[in-house]
Amino acid sequence: MRTMSEFRRTKIVATLGPASESLEILDQLVASGVNVVRLNFSHGTADEHRQRAEKIRAAAAKHKVCVGILADMQGPKIRCGKFKQGKTVLEPGQSFILDASLDLDAGDDERVGLTYKELVKDVTTGDRLLLNDGLIVMDVTEIRGPEIHCKVILGGELSNNKGVNRAGGGLSADALTEKDKEDIKTACAIGVDYIAISFPCDGNDMNHARSLVEAEGSRAGLVAKVERAEAVLDDNLKSIMESSDAVMVARGDLGVEIGDAAVPPMQKKILRMASKYNCPVIVATQMMESMVNNPIPTRAEVNDVANAVLDGTDAIMLSGETAAGNYPVEAVEAMHRTCIEAEKQPVMPSATTRDPRYPPHSGDECIARLAMEVTHTMPIKAIAAFTQSGNTALYMSRHLSRVPIYALTPLGTTAGRVTLYRNVIPKPIRGDYGPKDAQRATRDAFSVMLYDELVTENDQVVMTFGTPMGTAGSTNTLKIVHADSVFGDN
Ligand code: PGA
Ligand code: MN
Repeated sequence: MRTMSEFRRTKIVATLGPASESLEILDQLVASGVNVVRLNFSHGTADEHRQRAEKIRAAAAKHKVCVGILADMQGPKIRCGKFKQGKTVLEPGQSFILDASLDLDAGDDERVGLTYKELVKDVTTGDRLLLNDGLIVMDVTEIRGPEIHCKVILGGELSNNKGVNRAGGGLSADALTEKDKEDIKTACAIGVDYIAISFPCDGNDMNHARSLVEAEGSRAGLVAKVERAEAVLDDNLKSIMESSDAVMVARGDLGVEIGDAAVPPMQKKILRMASKYNCPVIVATQMMESMVNNPIPTRAEVNDVANAVLDGTDAIMLSGETAAGNYPVEAVEAMHRTCIEAEKQPVMPSATTRDPRYPPHSGDECIARLAMEVTHTMPIKAIAAFTQSGNTALYMSRHLSRVPIYALTPLGTTAGRVTLYRNVIPKPIRGDYGPKDAQRATRDAFSVMLYDELVTENDQVVMTFGTPMGTAGSTNTLKIVHADSVFGDN
């Protein structure tokens, strides 16, 4: 059971993999507060993902918490093929060939194959290519048929299946590959809460993905991974945010495409912009990378996590740390304690409340804003938002607040959706309230909050719901309720 002192507003996303496969580790990850797990479709089979989803659901049920599931599509990540010897060592100044006509497992010290054959058409002499997230750099000296001849600038070990990017972006590969289309079907069948699309250029790529998800009859939310140079152009970023349910600052590929030094200001820009578009954000990649091998993070990593929290991110993500590292549970614990401390500081002005120049779109959003205002003016301990779609909780969570927001919903899909939202605690409730059941609903809401010990019998909360209860419709009512009035004499 969580107590007030441990209530963490920022959500933790943990990638599952070989290091977090066992029931025991999954159980510990849930116990240490993971809110969303990420199934990385770049690795593993459909069956493996299905099994991981089943195990995590069992662990969440055991701990009586909601854990969201995010399926991350591989996208058009260009990779080199495999080497006959498993790897090659590249020296600065030497020549090396990326050969689209070579078998994918026939690499040697002179050349290696490519998963994306069209790369040859996309690059020209003078282009700079970055391999293995920028650890290896080579310049294109000549295109000869299917061969990209390069001169190695930054050498090192190049092993099987490493990523290939062009500095500055601009590669033509479609955001949705044939594999992604299959994987979207698998993810929908598993019943995931979110599907992350890799390398979208703009909102059109997200809309295309949405049509595929809807064709499967799924309500999964769509996460746009911002990791292409084109995606951070103002108009494209705007259209991505308008057409996605969340964005991920995917710093691995983004850093390769726009340069590592450009990533921190871009992260802040994305967070600022997202608050204008009511778009939740996940900050991802290498957040506690050294914990793959060490039981504690570096000071710089702690700073990075705290900084994302202070910028007002919804969620922070662990990748290799929990998927393949030696200390998956310790990594979650380190993130947890870093968030708790950072959240004691006032959030930076850029992330305070939604920009008032952007007016509320709907009654739901007006009520949500009002609710937040009440928490700033009265001693309110929590918000209980009855919600069908999760939108009221989304709007509330866009505002700076120290008050936990309970999203009370009869829909499992909505509970899953809100797992990602900053400050929101998903709670499934019965959905059988009728027009005369306001009092019963109020009691149920209090029972949930008292159980978590975030609210006591001497506290006031704000409740929002749609009346009349039991009929589908949007939130139109705000009530300030003292626990007394619920558990008093009557
Ligand atoms: P990936 O995405 O781990 O799937 O590449 C995240 C990133 O690029 O940062
Ligand atoms: Mn990526």
